[in-house]
Amino acid sequence: MKRTYIKDLNNFIGKEVTISGWVDIRRDHGKLIFIDLRDMSGKVQAVALPNNKDAHEISGKLRSEWVVSATGIVNKRPEKMISKNKETGEIEPQGDIELELKKVEVLNEALTPPFDVRSDGHDINEEARLKYRYLDLRRPRMQKNIRNRDKIISFFRDYMHKNDFVEIETPIMMKGTPEGSREYIVPSRLEKGKFYVLPQSPQQFKQLSMVAGFEKYFQIARCFRDEDTRGDRQPEFTQLDFEMSFITQEEVLQYTEAMFIELIKTLYPHKNISSTPFPRLTYKESVEKYGSDKPDMRKDKNNPNELAFAWVTDFPMFEKSEDSGLAAAHHPFCSIKDDDVEKFMSGKDLLSVRANSYDLVLNGYELSSGSIRIHKSDMQSKVFEYLGVSAEDQQKKFGHMLEAFKYGTPPHGGFAPGIDRIVMLLENEPNIREVIAFAKTGEGRDLMMGAPAEVAEKQLKELGIELKIKK
Ligand code: ASP
Repeated sequence: MKRTYIKDLNNFIGKEVTISGWVDIRRDHGKLIFIDLRDMSGKVQAVALPNNKDAHEISGKLRSEWVVSATGIVNKRPEKMISKNKETGEIEPQGDIELELKKVEVLNEALTPPFDVRSDGHDINEEARLKYRYLDLRRPRMQKNIRNRDKIISFFRDYMHKNDFVEIETPIMMKGTPEGSREYIVPSRLEKGKFYVLPQSPQQFKQLSMVAGFEKYFQIARCFRDEDTRGDRQPEFTQLDFEMSFITQEEVLQYTEAMFIELIKTLYPHKNISSTPFPRLTYKESVEKYGSDKPDMRKDKNNPNELAFAWVTDFPMFEKSEDSGLAAAHHPFCSIKDDDVEKFMSGKDLLSVRANSYDLVLNGYELSSGSIRIHKSDMQSKVFEYLGVSAEDQQKKFGHMLEAFKYGTPPHGGFAPGIDRIVMLLENEPNIREVIAFAKTGEGRDLMMGAPAEVAEKQLKELGIELKIKK
């Protein structure tokens, strides 16, 4: 018989249906056996009566997490049996219907899971949860997080498309062009001794898409950064990356703000935004007033539904580098504020030069960074020069950008909100691992697959790589 989803059972009262899914829990009540069955759409209580011998016998053997196909009659439950949650008045998972079992087929048995998959899982050892992630993801909280993440991403995609953006997939294997963080490298087999790197962000490609005349680009982009363990970081994470041509900072801020307000209204209407328009602070004001460039502006930090967005603008262009030279505070492609261009050109007091760059902050977290970019080759070259990149190295590392800017590059700018953080904050989760399906540990390890891992000697040989590290 064709499979029916549990959420649709209400349409089949009095009829025979077949459902497929997992045994959530079995409860034996003397002769009656109750089984909560679960599929991707919901949960229902099934009951095996002793008069149906086969179904009753098989039901008696079922264990949690076995996979079954169950055929039975959908019955309305007697009013007095319907269990309502005392606090919320909501009907409990068993709902107001149940399935009276006629036939049960075991499709696959399951070992006893290493932990409870029915609880919220917050107090279960996280290493175990990551090792058995495919089981951990069965818990309702994780199912909800991952499904809501998909809704958020779909919202962004639709919103971008409605506003005439085009999604462009940019390469995952590219040339090493340091933007700030350490890059992951991928050895080339065909050109031994050469390497691709994984993008820290599609920054250069999105700017080159502006040179290419697309004017409005976006991408749900995976970014890779080989950073030392720093709190709640993942070696790979996802951004809503976008870029626009002929745009001002004000327009990027307004577009983004309207998009976030619409997102909350559409998907999280029970949440409230502390103040609209979002408050704006310059970097200087933020640091002076809040001692941070990520001010937490919530009025009530205990209110899980309060969302305090804030804009922070006018970041410095440069900061001191480790070797006491200059480094780009965000990345080297940010343009300079009009008021500071003269100072910039003079090369004096560069640490006080401000960029046309902006961050969006939410409840004390940096949600996104962006800037209006440099679109002229000589200006870009000057930034590299101040960053201590020799003319020769500029050509080697960034020649493609410097050249592209000479072929009619429009003024442009963009932004890149971090999807993992957005989902984490909207779902009131304590860290981004709770909203990434197959997350890695803070040390960048995938405990389920066991990555990173050694590769076969033969593979290394093909790549012309010899390991010096003693195992
Ligand atoms: N590429 C930048 C980042 O990942 C974002 C931007 O400037 O648009 O931080």
